[in-house]
Amino acid sequence: MMRSLLAVLILGGFLNSASAATIIHAGRLIDGRGGPVQNEMSLIIEEGKIKRIVKGYVAGEAKDRVIRLTDQTVLPGFMDMHTHLISQHSKDAYTEKFFMEQADYALRSTTYARATLMAGFTTVRELGDNGVNSVALRKAITNGWIPGPRIFTAGKSLATTGGHADPTNGMKGDFKRDAGPVDGVINGVDDARKAVRQRYKDGADLIKLTATGGVLSLAASGNNPQFTDDELQAIVQIARDYNMTVAVHAHGTEGIRRAVLAGVDSIEHGTYMTDETIGLMKDKGTWWVPTCMAAEWVGEKAKEPGYFPEIVRPKAITVAQAFQGTFAKAYKAGVKIAFGTDSGVSPHGQNAREFELMVEGGMSPMEAIQTATLNAAKLLKIDDRLGTLEEGKIADVIAVEGNPLTDIKTLKKVSFVMKEGEVFKSP
Ligand SMILES: [Zn+2]
Repeated sequence: MMRSLLAVLILGGFLNSASAATIIHAGRLIDGRGGPVQNEMSLIIEEGKIKRIVKGYVAGEAKDRVIRLTDQTVLPGFMDMHTHLISQHSKDAYTEKFFMEQADYALRSTTYARATLMAGFTTVRELGDNGVNSVALRKAITNGWIPGPRIFTAGKSLATTGGHADPTNGMKGDFKRDAGPVDGVINGVDDARKAVRQRYKDGADLIKLTATGGVLSLAASGNNPQFTDDELQAIVQIARDYNMTVAVHAHGTEGIRRAVLAGVDSIEHGTYMTDETIGLMKDKGTWWVPTCMAAEWVGEKAKEPGYFPEIVRPKAITVAQAFQGTFAKAYKAGVKIAFGTDSGVSPHGQNAREFELMVEGGMSPMEAIQTATLNAAKLLKIDDRLGTLEEGKIADVIAVEGNPLTDIKTLKKVSFVMKEGEVFKSP
């Protein structure tokens, strides 16, 4: 009896330690920490984690799976800090809400999630949907029902009445109801507190608010301040109670200034940053998520007659022009930058275009890569387990053909995607 029990224990222990590993042979390795490229490396992956990283190509045992990426550059899975997986802009975007059921939104979002993962983005922040569809999407991906990136979602964005994320903007009388904190529309500190707690109840991971006007909403101003200091302070204070970070859409200078002073975690877009607001962000350690792609996309679409409603088109032209030069200025000044595309404005799956725009704006390819790996992980406060390829971290690994340090465009052609040790795309 004792002997057979002992045998079972020994056999159990043996099987456990001898579980099959996945071994990646990396021709070039960029680990996300900013050091030089390492050639001919092996990553040994077990149970979704990077167990060891060693020089040379390790053969492994017969039961191990070897993935040969010897002509590729291997990188950490990318992270996009500004996506909208529930939508994708088109001429019909303003009217689809009258025809789409919530289930339609949720099901369609699975195709956007898949496109994002296949582009090498294994983690995203979802910064504003039309309700709680992104919470359902997160659940479907976490449970393995569908392929997609790891999602940290804000649920519905917060706005003030008539503000950028007021869902009733531009509607006719009977549709123009008085939306409240449950819908993410607040006026005053009590509403602000309730709206944050509602997002917690909805299952959101963080808070997104629209501190100034924006381009695509059916409202006149693209840059005026839309929250008061006390409203912003109330949101940040309550968000901290629930261990949530606060991401802030802001174009205009005054809205950026108020949000940074209230202690928010990131400024999204930041179009009209001044030397003063840049200085404040550096003092407070506020992250900037530039979304160069969004500025480029609205600027291009504004040239197409009839694409945007007439209340949107002048804002698109003005903001796109104003953004030119913002990236180079803020980058040179040394603001902390994390990668974000605003995908859902531009089509999902094209996220890597942002790398090109950052490099055009003066950033080195290695720094650009770090905005989407280590920096993004720091903004999400998950850099203890993701954001770099290091022993003990979660195995989110991607690869591209060629060398992105000499040609940044190669990041648009992702050939291999592994998320938490599971392969979703192979060359
Ligand atoms: Zn956005």
